Amino acid sequence: MEIKKIGVVGAGTMGNGIAQVAAQIGCDVVMRDIEMRFVEGGMKNIETFLSRSVEKGKMDATEKDTIIGRIKGTIDMDELKDVDFVVEAVIEDLDLKKSVFKQLDELCKPDVILATNTSSMSITEIAASTKRPDKVCGMHFFNPVPLMRLVEIIRGYSTSDDTVNTTTELAQKMGKTTVEVKKDSPGFIVNRIMIPHMIEAIKIVEEGIASIEDVDKAVKNGLNYPMGPFELMDLTGIDIAYFVTQYFFNELNKENKWVAPNLLKTMVRAGKFGKKTGGGWYS
Ligand code: NAD
Repeated sequence: MEIKKIGVVGAGTMGNGIAQVAAQIGCDVVMRDIEMRFVEGGMKNIETFLSRSVEKGKMDATEKDTIIGRIKGTIDMDELKDVDFVVEAVIEDLDLKKSVFKQLDELCKPDVILATNTSSMSITEIAASTKRPDKVCGMHFFNPVPLMRLVEIIRGYSTSDDTVNTTTELAQKMGKTTVEVKKDSPGFIVNRIMIPHMIEAIKIVEEGIASIEDVDKAVKNGLNYPMGPFELMDLTGIDIAYFVTQYFFNELNKENKWVAPNLLKTMVRAGKFGKKTGGGWYS
């Protein structure tokens, strides 16, 4: 089936980015959220991003208007009933995701693939809430979606080869580099590698071995990463880093290496989540 119309569930940070890249490849998009203010917030983000692209000379104003014109924001779930592909990007709550997938399964045409942008939840468990587990997979974009190149395509227990191939082709059409995660496992590839970096960075500071600034400086200049672990946590949320660490501990055999350092717990207890609370490792 040719994918001409894409449904995006959730108009937040990730949802509006996914809606934008889908519209940029010429697809019509239905972007659904639960309240109009969230839909409008998502549309505003897309507008701001594309306006900057026009200012930078990367596209002209007509092109920007055409892309925006392809995106329909709505709070009505029924608008998703004639889409050819769905990406779910609601908040990271397993019960919510399962109920959204049950609704989508009842609403969408039987051959439609239902992909989830979850960062950590089990694709298999989400798929089990539908009658089409073979057509459910993970499609994990990175933030900010229009700029980050990678998409992880994740197989659940029942995901078919067709589903993986179609989702991979779609992501590549969006200009993304794809990797296949062959087994549904917490954190997939990138987060599984990133979290131990964060834990070790915090331990180095906790043990008085080096300062926050010097750990970031060392990682940027010694490993050639664009950001240090503390800068990255401030951007993506120290609360999220804590949540994911605990999730890994519970899901990956309660191994000691996934125990959250005390300092991480303290930051969360102090409400220092990073950029979104006006301060974290840095002020
Ligand atoms: P967000 O909080 O910015 O947006 C989530 C949106 O979902 C909100 O606007 C909320 O109103 C909406 N929503 C809640 N229930 C809904 C429903 N039933 N139907 C439609 N919309 C609903 O969250 P986000 O950062 O965009 O994250 C979305 C997903 O993407 C999560 O699973 C997250 O783990 C994953 N993810 C996030 C990032 C990131 O850096 N933010 C990166 C990769 C993956």
